[in-house]
Amino acid sequence: MSHVMNTYARLPVAFSHGEGSWLVDTDGKRYLDALSGIAVSTLGHNHPDLVATIATQAARVLHTSNLYRIPLQEELSDRLAAVSGMDEVFFCNSGCEANEAAIKLARFYGHQRGVDNPAIIVMEKAFHGRTLATLSATGNRKAQAGFEPLVSGFVRVPYNDLEAIRGIAGHNQNVVAVMLEMVQGEGGIHIADLEFQRQLRALCDEKGWLLICDEVQCGVGRTGTWFGYQQSGVLPDVATLAKGLGSGVPIGACLASGKAAGLFGPGNHGSTFGGNPLACAAALTTLECIERDGLRDNAVKVGEQIRSGLAEALAGVAGVVEIRGRGLMIGIELDRPCGELVARGLEAGLLINVTAEKVVRLLPALVFSEADARELVARLAPLIRTFLGA
Ligand SMILES: *Cc1c(COP(=O)(O)O)cnc(C)c1O
Repeated sequence: MSHVMNTYARLPVAFSHGEGSWLVDTDGKRYLDALSGIAVSTLGHNHPDLVATIATQAARVLHTSNLYRIPLQEELSDRLAAVSGMDEVFFCNSGCEANEAAIKLARFYGHQRGVDNPAIIVMEKAFHGRTLATLSATGNRKAQAGFEPLVSGFVRVPYNDLEAIRGIAGHNQNVVAVMLEMVQGEGGIHIADLEFQRQLRALCDEKGWLLICDEVQCGVGRTGTWFGYQQSGVLPDVATLAKGLGSGVPIGACLASGKAAGLFGPGNHGSTFGGNPLACAAALTTLECIERDGLRDNAVKVGEQIRSGLAEALAGVAGVVEIRGRGLMIGIELDRPCGELVARGLEAGLLINVTAEKVVRLLPALVFSEADARELVARLAPLIRTFLGA
């Protein structure tokens, strides 16, 4: 027994190193990594450009402080603004921190408009993190249980339900923002309809609300566009990033545009580590490789290959409810809880995840190749068939 706090039901495996979409455990067994550390290792493992960037930056300077100018942070903010269409960026270290910044920004915006008790509309099945405010915004009672009192100021509606949001608009004068994932990750790979996204943008404009997109999981190229909201062509007022942004080096970001930009001044928010030179260098290389190597197109192509390959291999199998997703964010919903598939995958040399009890979730690196995709289908389809007794 170690002294690590027991917050994860850990699988009995540890990895010593990796290469591309493959990981090797401490006994030398190889695993195809179809999860990439939950959408984190964008460039796969041991990517030569990222390794070089980190080594070079480590030999220059790792950390200075946000008390000083950080040129790499300025460069990354320019790059993020260019690919996102947003105006300015606050840097932090994780997804929940990015969302904390977004929630504070929305409240600050509300107070400036004379709303003393600002409220944010959030979605059922949403996941926004595990700090107190983001846990309160999360739509999962199990995750919240035992941590009450939750932070107030959140109003929940069903996903993809514009009428429910309109209904709240009719009687709640405290609403200042709507926060959602354009593709829900932890909730089971649910996609916001493109028309819902556009109508929601219009409603937010009409009401003067901020549209906050949590892109922590679906952002940074994973769905085939830089950000999930770009599939419908809407531009949010606030967008949050983390997971895949540094390809494994922790970094988060809260982006603001239009009426959400220019709100915070010195003293309103901060982070000791946020946007340090090492993290920004890793993120810049991640963005550069996505662009240079056509990884957004790769996500579309290989994602389609995985979905159609699985659809073919699982055709007619009773118990497969739906195979869905965007790019390399894929869910296979079964008709029953299927958590044990994770351990069976491990035996078969395959790293997958199950979320929302019944949804097999695949989040491979954006460098996942066609050969990797064939291997994934060849390993996963029989596991699901056997599990379902087909
Ligand atoms: C993972 C995740 C978070 C939380 O990120 P952490 O880095 O674990 O704090 C927030 N929102 C979404 C959509 C996520 O997938």
